Amino acid sequence: MSLTVDLSGRTALVTGASSGLGSRFGRILAANGANVALGARRKDRLESLAAEIGPQAAAIEMDVMREADIVAGFDAAEEAFGTVDTVIANAGIDGAGMAVDMPEEEIERTLAVNLKGAILTAREGAKRMITAGVARGRIVMIASITAFEPSPGLVAYSASKAGVVQAARSMAREWARAGICVNTISPGYIRTAINDAWFDTEPGKKQIARFPKRRLMGEEGLDGVVLFLCSDAAEFVTGSDFVLDDGQTL
Ligand code: NAP
Repeated sequence: MSLTVDLSGRTALVTGASSGLGSRFGRILAANGANVALGARRKDRLESLAAEIGPQAAAIEMDVMREADIVAGFDAAEEAFGTVDTVIANAGIDGAGMAVDMPEEEIERTLAVNLKGAILTAREGAKRMITAGVARGRIVMIASITAFEPSPGLVAYSASKAGVVQAARSMAREWARAGICVNTISPGYIRTAINDAWFDTEPGKKQIARFPKRRLMGEEGLDGVVLFLCSDAAEFVTGSDFVLDDGQTL
């Protein structure tokens, strides 16, 4: 049975909502009563998801590498539903490749989307929550177990995710007295477009076989904590990281 919380009256902006985990976050937040602004670059996919969810959802084209897009995205969300009081900074790319082979541009792009984009998204949300005097602001940033585990082939990615965890703790401290809770979730491996091709390879299959439960997580594995962190019940939770990995790092 899935957890249900009362998010009615809340407005969430989810980045990376055109695919994978972000689409799921949009669906579950809406199913629990929130209005959801669905952000990403592929507007056609966002529009299909918004149509599926209904009038509680709006599709917002935005590239988190560009601050102007993030500002415009929050403007559009506000126009549709009022002040955003819940932010899920989820957009990310894999930045895969062995360090010795990784082009400089790929390192830059990975950090620009996963780290700079996540900070700018959280910051824009917080600025507006502070200006509007939002009572219970919620910011959830999606990191990864690679923030803590040595991850060959994911050097830039893992560095970006470690950065997200520490940036979130610092932002949590900056905005604590404004009533904004900032937390991170560090998921284990879940099959989505970001890693689908890898887990079909022989090394990818061997990696799955080494996990204690010999499986990837299901997308639904994050639902309960995401909903909790967006709810009033998370009032005393800020600056925390939640490793949700099906025991993959044990
Ligand atoms: P996914 O299916 O590939 O989704 C990635 C999302 O990010 C897409 O919606 C994509 O949308 C968006 N995105 C990428 N670049 C963007 C940009 N410049 N501006 C705006 N949106 C952008 O992968 P996922 O697994 O759901 O990943 C979601 C998050 O979870 C990522 O931060 C990832 O690092 C993290 N995570 C995933 C796993 C896993 O095993 N799946 C584990 C730990 C952490 P557009 O291309 O339409 O812009």
